[in-house]
Amino acid sequence: MKRSLDLPLKGRHAVVTGAGRGIGAAIARGLAEQGAAVSIIGRSQAGLQDVALEIGASAYACDVTHAAEFAEVMGEIGAVDILVNNAGAAESAPFLKGDADMWRRMLDINLLAVVEGCRLVLPGMMERKWGRIINIASTAGLKGYAYVAPYVAAKHAVVGLTKSLALEVAKSGITVNAVCPGYTDTDLVARAVETIVAKTGRDAESAKAGFHNPQGRLIQPEEVANTVLWLAGEGAGSVTGQAVPVAGGEI
Ligand code: NDP
Repeated sequence: MKRSLDLPLKGRHAVVTGAGRGIGAAIARGLAEQGAAVSIIGRSQAGLQDVALEIGASAYACDVTHAAEFAEVMGEIGAVDILVNNAGAAESAPFLKGDADMWRRMLDINLLAVVEGCRLVLPGMMERKWGRIINIASTAGLKGYAYVAPYVAAKHAVVGLTKSLALEVAKSGITVNAVCPGYTDTDLVARAVETIVAKTGRDAESAKAGFHNPQGRLIQPEEVANTVLWLAGEGAGSVTGQAVPVAGGEI
């Protein structure tokens, strides 16, 4: 199919998990602007419906850590050309205070839901000999951070999964890549700032500045989306198995 320069993703169907706000919402907007049909997934309906209405996407309420629920929704969604595994969460605690349940929660949402997403779309992509899987990992997939060991371990695992799966499907017209944002201006960082303020009494402004990258700022969700759009496009067909930092020089 010849692709229009204005709408390079016209004719493609993209699914974005965790797209009711933050980075996922920015990615869904970008994909729709480039002409893709977009389906978005998240647990709470509120933000999801707003984004769906704004960009003309189909919204599906689903907890991606529940494999059966995720599979049912992906069955309803149908053939997927581009999967963006974006849903994620970060809990923090000193290592000795983080219990096994916290480890399970972090691995369930940040790793196993990504594995499941890949499992669900790959057979169709292999049949059609075209696909883009883009996993939103983190700089925490490339280096350590104190007090978030379960999150960091899960994101490192996503990078490992990405590199291995990319090799397995390299001859099938499918690319698998990870995008690794640094601290990004979303609710996830806002919650971390609130925790620091509550625990240390620091003011919010200086707590937020503690998350700044070498460019002296937070990454904007649209900047992460731009890298996703590039990886989703035809021109990035030979880019696979990569973990691309979007981090203002942090890494
Ligand atoms: P937000 O907390 O703003 O958004 C997370 C999204 O994931 C929400 O839409 C949430 O929707 C959804 N989600 C969470 N749990 C589930 C679940 N079990 N099932 C379905 N959807 C779920 O975070 P960000 O936008 O900041 O993060 C997006 C991704 O980017 C994550 O993978 C995160 O780890 C990663 N990242 C973020 C960075 C940052 O600094 N912000 C830096 C590096 C990586 P709902 O709650 O309604 O389900």
